[in-house]
Amino acid sequence: MNSMPPSHPFDDDKLREECGIFGVVGVQDASTFVALGLHALQHRGQEAGGIVSHDPQLGFNQARRFGYVRDNFTSQKIMETLPGPLSIGHVRYSTSGSKGQTAIRDVQPFFGEFSMGGAAIAHNGNITNANALRRELIERGSIFQSSSDSECIIHLMARSLQRTIPERMEDALRRVEGAFSVVAMTRTKLIGVRDPLGVRPLVLGKIGDGWALSSETCALDIIGAEYVREIEPGEMVVINEEGVESRFPFRSRKSRFCIFEHVYFSRPDSILGGRSVYETRENIGRELAKESPVEADLVCPVPDSGTPAAIGFSLESGIPYAMGIIRNQYMGRTFIEPTEQIRNMGVRLKLNVNRALIKDKRVILVDDSVVRGTTSRKIKEMILDAGAKEVHFRIASPPTAWPCFYGVDTPQREKLLAATMSEEEMRAHLAVDSLKFISLDGLYRAVGEANGRNAGNPQYCDACFSGEYPVEPADMLEQGFRLKTAAE
Ligand code: SF4
Repeated sequence: MNSMPPSHPFDDDKLREECGIFGVVGVQDASTFVALGLHALQHRGQEAGGIVSHDPQLGFNQARRFGYVRDNFTSQKIMETLPGPLSIGHVRYSTSGSKGQTAIRDVQPFFGEFSMGGAAIAHNGNITNANALRRELIERGSIFQSSSDSECIIHLMARSLQRTIPERMEDALRRVEGAFSVVAMTRTKLIGVRDPLGVRPLVLGKIGDGWALSSETCALDIIGAEYVREIEPGEMVVINEEGVESRFPFRSRKSRFCIFEHVYFSRPDSILGGRSVYETRENIGRELAKESPVEADLVCPVPDSGTPAAIGFSLESGIPYAMGIIRNQYMGRTFIEPTEQIRNMGVRLKLNVNRALIKDKRVILVDDSVVRGTTSRKIKEMILDAGAKEVHFRIASPPTAWPCFYGVDTPQREKLLAATMSEEEMRAHLAVDSLKFISLDGLYRAVGEANGRNAGNPQYCDACFSGEYPVEPADMLEQGFRLKTAAE
C-alpha cells in the first residue's frame, strides 16, 4: 500500500475539490485510458483512486489504492490485472464518510452483483438525503460496506424490481436528492448520469471506435479523445459499441450548475458550458478591476489558481502583471513526514516572494477565494516582509459565507471568515490596505450572463456565496444546520 500524499500547506484554507470520474468503452485496454484520464483529474481528489474493468473472458476486476494515480496505476503489474474494453475509475477526496481518514472500503468505484449481472459505479457529488436513505435501507436488511453516501445507490439498485441495470439505476437515482454525476458500467455498457440540476459536470468524448465519459474535458485531451458534448442535466446515457442512447428519467428542472467550478475547481484548460475556464477566469479579473479599481504598481497572482484572474485584472487596469510570488512545484514530495519546525514554516514551504520585484511597490494580490483567511494573512506578511509599500487583496469570488453540501468539502459555517465578519472587518483582520471581492452579479457577468444574476431564478448554484440552496440539505438540517433567514 502506498503512503498517503503529504498534506498541503493550504489544506485547511481552500475549498477542496470533490471527486473526479472517468469511463471508457470500446477500446482495447480501456483501463490504461482510464488511468490517464484520472491522472488529468487528479486536482479533483488526491486521497485515493480506483479502477474497475470488464473483460468478456476474465469478468470484472478492480484495484483501489490510496495516493496519487501516478504512483499506483502506472505499473504494468497493476494494469495487467485490469484487462478488457470497458472500464471506469474514480479519484477521491472524501466529501462524506470519514473525512481525511479514508478507509480502503470507502474508495470507489463500488461494485454490486445483481441477478442480471454485476455493475460498478463511481459518483461525484453528495447525496443530501443519504442519512435517511441509509437508515431506511439498513432497517430493510441492507448491509453497508462503507461509510460513503454513494453506496446507497448500489443498495437502492439491489431493491429495485426493474429488469435491467440502467432501469434499476434510474429507480435508485429517483430516490436520491442532492448533486450527482455518475459513471457506471455493466458487462457491456458504459452509463453516465447527471442529476436534474446538473450541479456537477460530466462530458462525453469519442475515442476511435469507442467512447469516454469524464468530469472535465482536460481528461479527454490527455487520451486524445474528441470532445462531443456535455451530458445534459437530468440525462442518462447508456453507451455500448453500437452507440449512445440518451434518456431523461427525472422530472425536468431548471439547471443550476456549480458556479465555483468556473472560479476554482475545474482546470483552466477545460471547457465548461461551451466556455473556456481560463477565459472565464480572465473575465472575472476584468470585472474585478472594473468594480474595485485601486492605484498600484503591480498585479500579482496568488499561484496558481489566481493567475488567469490576475492577468485579466492587469489587462483591464493597465497595471503591470508580475510573478511576485513563486510557487515551489516540488515541495510536496520532499517532506513526507515534516518535522515540527518544517511544518511551522507553513506557506513558506510552498510559496516564496520575489523580493527584488516587490520591494517598495504597491502590490495588488489576486486570489480565487478566502475561506478561513489563514493563508491570506501569511501571504500578506510575506509580501510586507519583502518590503512592499501597500498590499491590496482582490478576490475572484464573492465572500464564501455558507458551506457547500453538494460534493465540496467546506469548513463548518462558523469557520468561514465571511460568515462572521463584514468585508471591512475581514480587511482589518487580514491587516491589508484594501480587500475587495467580486460581486455575485460581476461573477455572473464573467461567466457570460450579461445581465448578471437573475435573483428570482438564479442560473447557477451559488449557495456558498448566497446561502440559497437549490436542494434542501435534509441531512444537515436534521443535524441542526440553520438555513438563511429572510432577515439575513
Ligand atoms: S454551494 Fe458553492 S461549491 Fe457547492 S455546488 Fe453550489 S456553487 Fe458549487
